[in-house]
Amino acid sequence: MDFTQAKQRIEWLKAVLWENSRKYYVENAPTMSDYEYDQLMHELEDLEAQYPEYRTADSPTQRVGSDLETPDVQNIEAGAGKEFAKYPHKYPMLSLGNTYSIAEVEEFAERATKTLETPFTWCCELKFDGTAICLTYRDGKLFRALTRGDGVVGDDVTANARKIANIPEKLQGEGWPAEFEIRGEVLMPYESFDRLNREREANEDQPFANPRNAASGSLKLQDPAEVANRGLMCTLYHIPVGQVDYPTHDEALKAAASWGLPVSDERRICRSIDEIEAFIAHWDTARKQLPYATDGIVIKINELDAQRTLGYTAKSPRWAVAYKFKAEQALTPILSIDYQVGRTGAVTPVANMEPVFLSGTMVKRATLVNEDQMTMLDIHEGDWVYVEKGGEIIPKITGVEESKRQPGAKRPAFPKVCPDCGTPLVKPEGEAKWFCPNTDGCPTQIKGKLVHFLGRKAMNVLAGDATVDQLYGLDLVKTPADFYDLRESQLVMLEGWKERAAQRFLDSLRESRNVPFERVLFAIGIRYVGETTARDIARHFGDIDTLAQASKEELAAVPEVGEVIAESVYKYFRDERHLKEIERLKAAGLQMAVVRKAENASEALAGKTIVISGNFSISRDEMKALIEANGGKNSGSVSGKTAFLLAGSKPGPEKIKKAESLGVPILDEEAFRKLLPDSSVASLPQNDNENGPQNDNETELTLF
Ligand code: NAD
Repeated sequence: MDFTQAKQRIEWLKAVLWENSRKYYVENAPTMSDYEYDQLMHELEDLEAQYPEYRTADSPTQRVGSDLETPDVQNIEAGAGKEFAKYPHKYPMLSLGNTYSIAEVEEFAERATKTLETPFTWCCELKFDGTAICLTYRDGKLFRALTRGDGVVGDDVTANARKIANIPEKLQGEGWPAEFEIRGEVLMPYESFDRLNREREANEDQPFANPRNAASGSLKLQDPAEVANRGLMCTLYHIPVGQVDYPTHDEALKAAASWGLPVSDERRICRSIDEIEAFIAHWDTARKQLPYATDGIVIKINELDAQRTLGYTAKSPRWAVAYKFKAEQALTPILSIDYQVGRTGAVTPVANMEPVFLSGTMVKRATLVNEDQMTMLDIHEGDWVYVEKGGEIIPKITGVEESKRQPGAKRPAFPKVCPDCGTPLVKPEGEAKWFCPNTDGCPTQIKGKLVHFLGRKAMNVLAGDATVDQLYGLDLVKTPADFYDLRESQLVMLEGWKERAAQRFLDSLRESRNVPFERVLFAIGIRYVGETTARDIARHFGDIDTLAQASKEELAAVPEVGEVIAESVYKYFRDERHLKEIERLKAAGLQMAVVRKAENASEALAGKTIVISGNFSISRDEMKALIEANGGKNSGSVSGKTAFLLAGSKPGPEKIKKAESLGVPILDEEAFRKLLPDSSVASLPQNDNENGPQNDNETELTLF
């Protein structure tokens, strides 16, 4: 590799690592496995060591990954993030050097032995896979809880930490310093994780990829009462040197345990590398029985004087290393393969397997990705396969155990026609997947598009796959616009539906008329137009008519829109059926233009402290912005000073109870909108008109 190539590779690695770090820490939705991430980080470290002139202070090798949100980042979980006070850490909260190789643990031990002149021991501990927390106790009482943040400054999550059952409010025993910090991990045990994901799936919310993401997302919720429901736990493992007067790390932890702090007993003092390796080998298997996730073993020098001597690099202590376990694998036979058609027509092979326990959950289906991947893995019918959970929630098949293959087993034939509508499949140039081209006629694709249209991040209508199945089966809905023609008399024909359910569905549809244009554009499901692209395109063109007329060049001129997306959007608006559908959606009253932000729109809510709870026709962040734009103040908890509780669908029962007990008025979204002057209301159009908004101010407030 020459200098130019090295520089390019370094730049690429930096960009990829920062992007994935953001997805992991801020969005809690990683798309890469930890192993892949760590391999790229090690490659960058090696290249920077070879070419130190290209190492910069902003490199991910020099900085701790940050969970602090940047203003333009949307957390995937409604109600999460953004509004925490920030405080500096007394001592930086760093990362840990890590390795997946025992040989490197040995090298680490040898280096430390060479540097230190006095004898020392090792304290080996579990590496808990959650999110880091720093607790400060002042005069024996919990004073503050901070997240790691960027290592220097953290988010103040004290109110949430108080809702974690095993974090004591008051210390017991004696000998604790007047003020000290103790650090550890907030974890979500598998049981709580499974329950939470079941609830999220039932609510059509995106499930969390793993307990770590769920713990970190939960710790950043705005509503402490909701945190209490998440079943989190805490385990503490570090008191920064200089705060307590004990010769060893282990003794400091014993003291902390005697003060009633949750410290794990699963640690061991080791005197040799053999003992360390035995500890690692034991937990590599034994950890599968633990009720929470661990991702390795942390090996720390136990004597605090020795820790002081070794000190820290910019990113991690020199006196500790993490040995990480590779993602857990399970071996199980394939029973059959389904070929699933998605809403875009892409056909994905999915293996049904003998159920097997993997990383705390029972797994029975795993993706085979596409035909090329099946060929690469050389999959045969009935093969025993290795399954792994990577960054994504859907497990992946990563290999085949050929020794278990049945004699004469055949390779499965990838279908030539759509398993649903029988149309011959096509493989467009540059695509890795086969597609059913019958976009507007294939029932699975149509239903997939309808489900997507109603989804939480799209029109946010309260309905799931089963409702769409029934409506489609009864010929009531074929395109999204048909939803807006539905009548109560038709809905009560659905199995299990009564008037109330029908009414709720119609109300939810009516409310969806307030959904901003950006999300409507995402909802209509143009190929390659995800949430972010829809937002960029909507803001660039302002309204649907201008967008529909845009040339390919004009489309490609939008930042982040490449040729493929431009081509797809262009083609979409050249199809008569799509134009007709758009006209019907317009007539139904959906937002088809970007509405000017209601910044400082009025003083209608001046002096009022408002608490919001539940889901609204717009995101919670948008709702909060609207309150502030009209002079109101948002607060996370109901008190005597609360002007009113604004309750959307599924409000927190604790909040409702508190508001009722304090006599705080509870308003629904419609009543709330009536408090706002016309200009603000226009940004959230009236929904009491079956035919949609007819607001005179609308044109004036719309950016064309
Ligand atoms: P880390 O998770 O590898 O290790 C450091 C952390 O371990 C500490 O901050 C602490 O919170 C925790 N820990 C758990 N048990 C501990 C114990 N007994 N003693 C001390 N600390 C303990 O490092 P990190 O900086 O939090 O995260 C970096 C890692 O996160 C990467 O190595 C990678 O595996 C993962 N990551 C993955 C992606 C992705 O896209 N998959 C992106 C960014 C980071």
